[in-house]
Amino acid sequence: MTQRTLTGTTLETLVSLSKRRGFVFQSSEIYGGLSSVWDYGPVGVELKRNVKDAWWKSMVRERDDVVGMDASILMHPDIWVASGHVDSFTDPLVECQDCHRRFREDKLEGDTCPNCGGTFGEPRQFNLMFKTFLGPVEDSAAVVYLRPETAQAIFVNFENVQTTSRKKIPFGIAQIGKSFRNEITPGNFTFRTREFEQMEMEYFCEPGTDDEWHEYWMNWSMDFFTSHGIRSEKLRLRNHEPDELPHYSKASADVEFVFPWGWDELETISNRTDFDLKAHAEKSGKDLSYFDDQQKKRFVPFVVEPAMGADRAALAFLADAYDEEGEGKDKRVVLRFHPDIAPYQVAVLPLSRNDRLVPTALRVYDVLRPHFNTQYDDSQSIGRRYRRQDEIGTPLCVTVDFETVEDDDAVTIRNRDTMEQVRVPVDNLETAIRDQLDLMRNDSQG
Ligand code: ATP
Repeated sequence: MTQRTLTGTTLETLVSLSKRRGFVFQSSEIYGGLSSVWDYGPVGVELKRNVKDAWWKSMVRERDDVVGMDASILMHPDIWVASGHVDSFTDPLVECQDCHRRFREDKLEGDTCPNCGGTFGEPRQFNLMFKTFLGPVEDSAAVVYLRPETAQAIFVNFENVQTTSRKKIPFGIAQIGKSFRNEITPGNFTFRTREFEQMEMEYFCEPGTDDEWHEYWMNWSMDFFTSHGIRSEKLRLRNHEPDELPHYSKASADVEFVFPWGWDELETISNRTDFDLKAHAEKSGKDLSYFDDQQKKRFVPFVVEPAMGADRAALAFLADAYDEEGEGKDKRVVLRFHPDIAPYQVAVLPLSRNDRLVPTALRVYDVLRPHFNTQYDDSQSIGRRYRRQDEIGTPLCVTVDFETVEDDDAVTIRNRDTMEQVRVPVDNLETAIRDQLDLMRNDSQG
């Protein structure tokens, strides 16, 4: 097992690595950027996709009791009235009377302005939903909202999904998609943004079993992170105090992670009771109760919800993976991602761009591509290319050299963590890589 330090790194280091290696760029950079909005580059998009795929696989594909859906971002505006978002999806906003900067009051330390030391005016409740207009007429009848959470689309589709999937309670509906919140103080890179992606699952269960399911989904969430490589010492569960609970929740707990600035929320697991289904039944006039044909009784299900941000999770995986070894010119920056989270699993590197090496290297690349997310890199020295792959966390590098071509049709596999190199015939390469990735999977269980 490779030893790593727990201290991690600074946010500035992660931001600069992200830019240098193509994980994340500032949005609209050539126009001076748009504050707190970020774009994923070629490497980052693979990382985030792997995070979402890992979640979808564990949450939907490997379970019999959870199905997926994918709803529109725009929905009937009454949904947000019924859910309580129009009235109470607000944060307390305070404005400094001197510099006029605005802050979210509940996230402030102290009661003076962190910008200029000035005093604040009275707090007011600021609604976080973005509004837009449906169709060409910009009047109040055409107002719609960009969804601030994916969950409501699941509640309003509860009956459609339940009847078509023929699932019996308890069962869940999962969704991954964009949400929008006009945050008062976004920041900390991709941690808090105004446009972000969520991975949410609503688990419908019989009233009275909800506390048990809440406990179950809290443990499941912790396992999800540790089984994909986040070290357990960097995670903890924190129950919400009664005054922190959102309007719909009977109990909530956060999975917290040690981000570069300290412990902060990664995911929330809430017991939403029957609040949402009842509210939509009342507002829409549609019965959203469930008939349990074994017990011959009808009830409105309770709902337990694990809700996670895909961007925040990707940032946590990045922060946890970051490691440095050695000093000075021997310093090696390496991202120790779990193989299922690493943007690429394998890189094929011909020793040089020599004409005799390239055809074989391309053949090896073609052998691996159908099975692993593989990168081909033949620019600059081999040492630099190893460094580059370490910096994006590629678990294995396959090197094609003159011996491969002239002698043994074998290649060298270099392991990111141990830096050990083994020689393997091209004919056995796929199996050898599978075996090494499996070992690394076991090694990186948090
Ligand atoms: P906070 O109190 O930090 O504003 P929240 O508790 O309101 O967040 P939830 O509504 O529980 O957040 O959202 C579920 C998950 O969605 C969060 O744990 C987080 O991972 C993600 N998330 C929420 N808001 C944002 C945001 N502005 N940017 C990125 N991810 C977010």
